[in-house]
Amino acid sequence: MKFDKIEIIDNKIEYENLLFYSFDSGSSLKIEHLMGYDAIIIDARDNDFARYIIKKIRTHYNPEFYLKPIFLINYKESKDPFLNYLHDGLVYSYDQIKDIAEVVKQIFFKTTQLDYQLIPSFEAQTMKKVLNYMYTRELRTLKPYVDLNSIIGYTFPEISVHFDDAEEAQVLEIFDWAEREGLIWPDFHERIYLCNQCSSGFLSYREVCPHCNSSNSKSEDLVHHFPCAFIGPISDFKNPIDNTLTCPKCNKGLRHIGVDYDKPSIIHHCNSCDNNFQDFFVKAKCISCTQDIEVQYLIPKSINVYKLTKKGRAAATNGFLSSGQEIEDIFGTINMATFKIMLHYELERIKANPSQKTSIAIINMENIFELYNKIGKKAEKKLLEDLVHMIRENINAADFIAFENSSTLYLGLMNADTMRAEQQLMHLSILIEKVIKTNFNGFDVKVLHKGKILHTHSKAEMQLQEITKDLFD
Ligand SMILES: [Zn+2]
Ligand SMILES: [Zn+2]
Ligand SMILES: [Zn+2]
Repeated sequence: MKFDKIEIIDNKIEYENLLFYSFDSGSSLKIEHLMGYDAIIIDARDNDFARYIIKKIRTHYNPEFYLKPIFLINYKESKDPFLNYLHDGLVYSYDQIKDIAEVVKQIFFKTTQLDYQLIPSFEAQTMKKVLNYMYTRELRTLKPYVDLNSIIGYTFPEISVHFDDAEEAQVLEIFDWAEREGLIWPDFHERIYLCNQCSSGFLSYREVCPHCNSSNSKSEDLVHHFPCAFIGPISDFKNPIDNTLTCPKCNKGLRHIGVDYDKPSIIHHCNSCDNNFQDFFVKAKCISCTQDIEVQYLIPKSINVYKLTKKGRAAATNGFLSSGQEIEDIFGTINMATFKIMLHYELERIKANPSQKTSIAIINMENIFELYNKIGKKAEKKLLEDLVHMIRENINAADFIAFENSSTLYLGLMNADTMRAEQQLMHLSILIEKVIKTNFNGFDVKVLHKGKILHTHSKAEMQLQEITKDLFD
């Protein structure tokens, strides 16, 4: 039996063909030189140092780096979400490398399944990195954490790491984009308000004088003396000697609240302009840019917990299935934009003609990318053309088809109620499975579908989103 003792030589540790690098604040190694290492152990004795290295690695443009397994040693309790949620485990001694080796191998195995297609837009690129990271760590939700370092007060570590603390509001924009793309679903968590100039959430709320905007004011009770009907601030009823109250108008002493006097409300006095007033203005001063903003002009934003949709989960391994050129010009289909416009007019037609029944439907070939990866782009397009041809033969001439991407298509089915649509979809699903099985060596494609009658009380686009959500959720 071999007894293996863990040895560190020049910050390097070798274990079962895995090479670890142990990073501490004394290490001279540049991040770029970490290429050859399978995993990194950061000495987290110094929080700032550990945070810096984590950020450096996780934001690297190269997946070799940003997906690298990171472990922390000498970790001490911290509130920093980057430190707490962007590592792959804590170790207490280097002997534990035996335990984490399995984690390293798992992550490595998952990275080999990723798709590394080039992506054009900044939002998509960022989101793809996040989805890749989540896939290799088996994460399914993006959670917000309260964070003093973030200018909006919240951080979503997996994505926020890609931005400077002051740019955190951009993270919310990327979420909006990803939600529109159907990659994530929001679950409301909290509402925040941001500065309308600089998007900062660090606001100081004050009650200010409606005349001069000063917050230098004092408030006191208003007293109403019943016998003489005088109303004035309580200070006018006070004397410097004792606690008794005397009416300044009729000079009678006040006896019992509720009997001969009461306090109908509160009055505010501005020490700056000397005005009295009943209602304050509420203003929020931005601590970041010093802009003083009336609260109704702050920008409200929702902080959500985001769950990955099926499409979001698949994007790590299949890439972003953008409705590219190759599926736009398939004979017998229209593009998604036209599809939506046609549905809109169809809806207007139904409003005028309530007996008209039109259904919308979605068909998704869940695992078709396994096949596409094998057969290549050209055969993929040929297959899609054949499928459209076959679908066309089984629907009405007036019905329309649009591809969302090469695994998902939408149908507009005229003269079909929900029941009729379901029958058609069932039939089409079986046909698609059969055609693919026969033509591609028995490949078992899994076809999902959902159809629903178009109703007139919400927008066609909303209804499309609903059936999509129903299918994928
Ligand atoms: Zn004032
Ligand atoms: Zn009086
Ligand atoms: Zn501001």
